[in-house]
Amino acid sequence: MSRQYNLIIGGQAIAGARGHFDVLNPATEQVVAQCPQASMDQLDQAVEAAQAAFEQWKLSSHAERQRVIAAIADRLEERAGELADIIVQEQGKPRFLAEAEVGGAVAWTRATAELELPVEVLEDSYAKRIEMHRKPLGVVGSITPWNWPLMIAVWHIIPALRAGNAVVCKPSGLTPLNTLMLGEIINEVAPPGLVNVICAESRIGAAMSEHPGINKIVFTGSTPTGQSIMSAAAGNLKRLTLELGGNDAAIVLPDADIDASAMAIFQTAFLNMGQTCAALKRLYVHDSQYDALCQKLADIAREQTLGNGADAGVTFGPVQNRAQLELVTELVEDARKQGAQVLSGGSPLDGPGYFYPPTIVRDIEDGTRLVDEEQFGPVLPVIRYQDVEDAVRRANANSNGLGGSVWSTDIEQAQRIAARLECGSVWINNHADIVPHAPFGGCKMSGFGTEFGQEGLLEYTYPQVIHINKE
Ligand code: NAD
Repeated sequence: MSRQYNLIIGGQAIAGARGHFDVLNPATEQVVAQCPQASMDQLDQAVEAAQAAFEQWKLSSHAERQRVIAAIADRLEERAGELADIIVQEQGKPRFLAEAEVGGAVAWTRATAELELPVEVLEDSYAKRIEMHRKPLGVVGSITPWNWPLMIAVWHIIPALRAGNAVVCKPSGLTPLNTLMLGEIINEVAPPGLVNVICAESRIGAAMSEHPGINKIVFTGSTPTGQSIMSAAAGNLKRLTLELGGNDAAIVLPDADIDASAMAIFQTAFLNMGQTCAALKRLYVHDSQYDALCQKLADIAREQTLGNGADAGVTFGPVQNRAQLELVTELVEDARKQGAQVLSGGSPLDGPGYFYPPTIVRDIEDGTRLVDEEQFGPVLPVIRYQDVEDAVRRANANSNGLGGSVWSTDIEQAQRIAARLECGSVWINNHADIVPHAPFGGCKMSGFGTEFGQEGLLEYTYPQVIHINKE
């Protein structure tokens, strides 16, 4: 008998007014548990509960907010095993990666608790004193995707609380259980109504985007959904943070040490089975090292052990859902038709489960769907280039602008190339390496707004400037 899950509204565990829906394990296609399905009335109740909690929380001291958030981190740590289990079951990633996700959630929670929001003195003269304060926005709506569901929920909720806001979150209907558990944990230590969690298969996210009682939406997900949210949010001029899709390019310069880099390139491209917003998604390799690096990557791909993430020794889990599996299958088929060569993997495994082996595709060019579109799955196109200038041009010739990387033994040269990439984060001899103290966000169609660190925290505030006349 699987555990029962409830919505969290106003500090209470509540059944969904519209029944429930099944959450599947992507490794087995068996039902993990049933998720409560919220009605629109329950969304309104969650917003009202958050508004009521906000009236008190906005008056709380920084020390009080820090105390509550530190207590959340402690509870997350205590229940780390349980959280990792449910992430493996509903998301599909191997257990070691689920543990890393919970560890990341704890680390981000602690780091965010410690951030400060000092009053800035802009002028203090004989005539006047001008101070800038940072005020919370009100109710923040958090909408999250299915790839790193717990960590991303924490990235949204914790800075919102630290800045003095209340939250209504809506996890992806594909991976809602860990966020319901997170809501339960937060409610053990936070005032009732401060964090509410509601779930539904569809429509609730759209209703949140247009809800007049929500003051900001922080959204992580696909670019088309981000565009809908932006249109829907116009009614009450919601503040927005949109962390959207990416199609990160990596450029391997002619002098790169590919023996030292091949494993890191593989790991950052196939992180979470490639289902990571800032994973390495297009690899540009100089002609002089092209054949050798393709071979090394294919060798590493073939060494992976595919299986249910709950089983010991598994290094590579399933794709999270059938639609994503079908997209990856379609993109690889299309690349084959265009003459590309598949060095490893290349087709889904027979079911049950949404397994697709890590796939390296060579002899492929820009203009092919697998290069131009975000694959968000376990396949990496490797593209040959002759001239570094041309590689930089091609890396930038994409509507996304989340991350990028340059691989070289000459760090100064790599830095010069890195500075020319059009994206929010650039790594040298690494990729997708995020930390709580470095801001993260995209440009172009990858969205706008920043997460993490002081800059990320300020996104949950508006500045209020107080002018004190001394004369
Ligand atoms: P998605 O856009 O399909 O769904 C994300 C969330 O939005 C889900 O909770 C979904 O229920 C909700 N939603 C769907 N339609 C909505 C609407 N009209 N209004 C409001 N909410 C709606 O994305 P996904 O498939 O869950 O996630 C994969 C995508 O997310 C990829 O493109 C990936 O690159 C991106 N992503 C970006 C980042 C980042 O930080 N930039 C991080 C992780 C994932």
